[in-house]
Amino acid sequence: MSDAAVSRPSPALHSDRRAFLDFVARHSRLLLTTHINPDGDGLGSEVALALWLRSQGKQVRVLNDSVVPHAFAFLARHLPLESWEPERAEQLFNESDALIVLDTSNRQRIGRVAEVLARHVMPVAVVDHHVTHQRGFGQVNVIEPEASSTGEIVFDLMREAGVPLTPEIAEALYVALMTDTGSFRYSNTDSHAHHMAAELLANGVDPQRLHSQVHTHASAGRLRFFGEVLSALELLDDGKVVVLEASPEQFQRHGLSGSDTEGLVDLPRTIAGVEAVALFSEVEPGKVKVSLRSTGRVTIDDICARLGGGGHAHAAGVLLRGTRADARAKVLPELSRKVAALGAVSAQRFA
Ligand code: AMP
Ligand code: MN
Ligand code: MN
Repeated sequence: MSDAAVSRPSPALHSDRRAFLDFVARHSRLLLTTHINPDGDGLGSEVALALWLRSQGKQVRVLNDSVVPHAFAFLARHLPLESWEPERAEQLFNESDALIVLDTSNRQRIGRVAEVLARHVMPVAVVDHHVTHQRGFGQVNVIEPEASSTGEIVFDLMREAGVPLTPEIAEALYVALMTDTGSFRYSNTDSHAHHMAAELLANGVDPQRLHSQVHTHASAGRLRFFGEVLSALELLDDGKVVVLEASPEQFQRHGLSGSDTEGLVDLPRTIAGVEAVALFSEVEPGKVKVSLRSTGRVTIDDICARLGGGGHAHAAGVLLRGTRADARAKVLPELSRKVAALGAVSAQRFA
């Protein structure tokens, strides 16, 4: 198999891979960050990139707004993944020459790290795969929406730079790829994702072990909470739209936080005939996290982008202030319109 089959060619429109490699060559003290409530892709990409840059003799630090969820704590055994602490944040910025932002191209999504960045003049490079905010806010932006995960872009960059894959780097990249593709089930899974997985396995990854390391951290309360929310699911628009709601009282009673809803919105996609799922998750009174998913025929990122959020064509989110009823009123009419338009198209086709 040729290398060309494994590496996705650099897409001319969004990506500046060469500029990124020059950027890291120019700086010797690098600070890495990712989005708030980090996931396997943000954290796995950070660890892989940090280990790569450290092997080049660079000083690398990682600072995120939020703490590392238990499921990904094992990734931090190679290097500290620090979370927000104001004085330490100032110190890390003072001791770094450049910032690399992974898995978001939206400045607000790095949370409190953005506030420190506003006070420090520092060159920024962005590596991301989201469709929204495609221009990025870095001097260098490697934004490739066709990539399944940011980890996949880091993998391609490493291949272009001729960096060897160590078992530790392969493990971090596999976590990124596995989590963002829903274990190779979502529409972003393509041959490149599978080729990449094969190469990671050839470099020491044990897929079964990593899968269970990431997916065996739930509490019994979390499963009871899922059960409660799912048993109250609503079917709208002739069963094409599923709506789920979670209240602050439910989060509190089961001892859960916002990141515990991970995976919940994906479950109703298994219902026959469903086109889209909306989860309105009110962790604290007056703050509603909306998660939208499409089963592939409608695009939903534009609904979230219009309200200030973003994501991908078939998986997107936004945080809204107000009640769950307010959030539903902002999101559901447009979702219904999109699903109804699909019906009109199919009806035309069969007429
Ligand atoms: P979630 O529903 O939180 O699992 O997010 C689905 C996708 O949308 C992920 O790729 C997120 O990065 C993205 N996303 C979620 N919330 C936001 C937001 N407030 N702004 C921008 N992107 C978001
Ligand atoms: Mn992410
Ligand atoms: Mn991602």
